[in-house]
Amino acid sequence: MSGRKWPRGRPYAKPYTAAGILRTPCIRCSAPSRYQWQICADGNKWRALCARCDVALNAMVLRWARDPDAATKTAAYRKYVNVKESAKCGGEVLQVSHDT
Ligand SMILES: [Zn+2]
Repeated sequence: MSGRKWPRGRPYAKPYTAAGILRTPCIRCSAPSRYQWQICADGNKWRALCARCDVALNAMVLRWARDPDAATKTAAYRKYVNVKESAKCGGEVLQVSHDT
């Protein structure tokens, strides 16, 4: 994905509201967002994700953690999120929880 720009403007120090998330393009593919996440190395800023990218992110983290049930859990989560195909968004993005 070339020419992609990360969101500019306010620093997203606070979580998006339910209405606000729907108006925010996905940080990865610019589709309308449904979810948000934050990572420590990104300054714990809240970042918006569409459903497909959220599933891809969850799948990637499960694989990264070497969860033996990653495929089953990913399939169940994809069904829960109602995403038919997330392969196109299966890139390398790390999600790290904010527990300290
Ligand atoms: Zn996306």
